[in-house]
Amino acid sequence: MRVAVVGAGLAGLSAGVELKELGHQVELLERSRLLGGRATSFEIDGIEVDNGQHVFLFCCKELLRFIERCDFERDVYVQKRFEALVLDRNGTRGWLRASPLPPPLHLFPSFVRYPHLSADGKVKIVNALVAAITEKRAPEATFDRWLQRTGQTPETRRAFWDPFFIPALNAPFDRVSAADALFTLKTAFTGSVTAARFGYAKVPLAHLAAKAAAKLDAVQLQSGIVGVDPAKNGVALRQAQGDTVTFDAVVIATPPRTVAKLLGNPAQYGVEHLDTYAAYPILDVHLWHDAGSAGFDFAAALDSPLQWIFEKSPGYLSCSFSAAGESMTMPTADLEAFAWSEVRAFVPQLREAKLVRSAVTRNPEATWLPQPGSPRTRTQTTHPRIAVAGSWTDTGWPDTMESAVRSGIAAARAVERAPCT
Ligand SMILES: Cc1cc2nc3c(=O)[nH]c(=O)nc-3n(C[C@H](O)[C@H](O)[C@H](O)COP(=O)(O)OP(=O)(O)OC[C@H]3O[C@@H](n4cnc5c(N)ncnc54)[C@H](O)[C@@H]3O)c2cc1C
Repeated sequence: MRVAVVGAGLAGLSAGVELKELGHQVELLERSRLLGGRATSFEIDGIEVDNGQHVFLFCCKELLRFIERCDFERDVYVQKRFEALVLDRNGTRGWLRASPLPPPLHLFPSFVRYPHLSADGKVKIVNALVAAITEKRAPEATFDRWLQRTGQTPETRRAFWDPFFIPALNAPFDRVSAADALFTLKTAFTGSVTAARFGYAKVPLAHLAAKAAAKLDAVQLQSGIVGVDPAKNGVALRQAQGDTVTFDAVVIATPPRTVAKLLGNPAQYGVEHLDTYAAYPILDVHLWHDAGSAGFDFAAALDSPLQWIFEKSPGYLSCSFSAAGESMTMPTADLEAFAWSEVRAFVPQLREAKLVRSAVTRNPEATWLPQPGSPRTRTQTTHPRIAVAGSWTDTGWPDTMESAVRSGIAAARAVERAPCT
């Protein structure tokens, strides 16, 4: 088949690579001038920066397989064991790290020594973890309610739930379903000793997307699609420039609102729930300073809207504000000044450092979540030659790179199964 993939994010790229390996001819059509979608990079004043810091965990098996298939293992770093540094404003450093004990006990030795929680707080968290492991299904609709029922307090939220789960879920806990949050908790922390090992790209993200795109037969950037229509011998794509091109099959790998626009009447294709999704923002402040390495790869900052600080290279920090809310509307100069003062508060060795350059990347639509309790959209449609992909679709994973890759593979297989005409 000659298959079109609309959208060059990770979902579209993984659909394309899967279809290519299944023996089809694949053309990728992307509206933007960049590859990678949300997981991309671009130049600001001559320096290439990521659209925002992206991390994955070792439990993201399909993403890791995709990395292997596209030959970018050497371009990513994965921790040898799970280890996370958590800082507070007084300069106290806490570590959570995996020990060789079997899960979930592997975190226990570092948890006992973790300085940001009282003994009572630790007992409360252990009780919640036991509930997460033993309960088949949380009866609550939202993660916030679940935290309330399991007795979590401002102290346990501040020192454990907020730093790890706001970035992982990228939404306030009253907007996240308890089932999704507990899936993340169990998958990362209670299933296997290696599951929570952090990984990230060592090269700008668009370079990874370019390697994946190079596997396909054709890539057209700045080539937006405005409509998808069934045609006699396949599926017709209406291009923004006015042309119509017909393919044997199409994978639409765009955000939910665009899928709705492209299909016109999604219900006609059995594509449901698109209007239940809401977008959640992330912003990153990029800071270049003159003091060399801060002495860590990444660290969480307690009680700060700037939740994680990543050292991209000595002298270059990327600070991410997940579920960014109010910070999104702050003027750029104020954000840069605020982030720099937060960094110097949390990292005492940078107090004398000078800021030499700064930049902000804002993503109002960083992740998509349906209302708690609302089902997610399936990749398969009622048209055998049209499938939908995207990190927001029904993969079982929250809106992440892992989910994007899974959705792409599922969509590719859905059109592959279509009967020949
Ligand atoms: C700042 C930030 C930080 C993040 N951090 C993490 C993280 O740490 N870990 C993690 O796992 N995930 C993270 N994510 C989420 C992750 O980036 C996404 O889940 C994933 O990249 C989504 O891939 P996708 O292909 O489903 O969608 P997208 O990347 O949104 O791709 C959709 C593509 O479709 C294109 N498109 C749209 N309309 C059209 C059209 N009409 N015609 C043609 N093309 C079109 C778009 O331009 C885009 O390239 C983060 C996201 C952001 C923004």
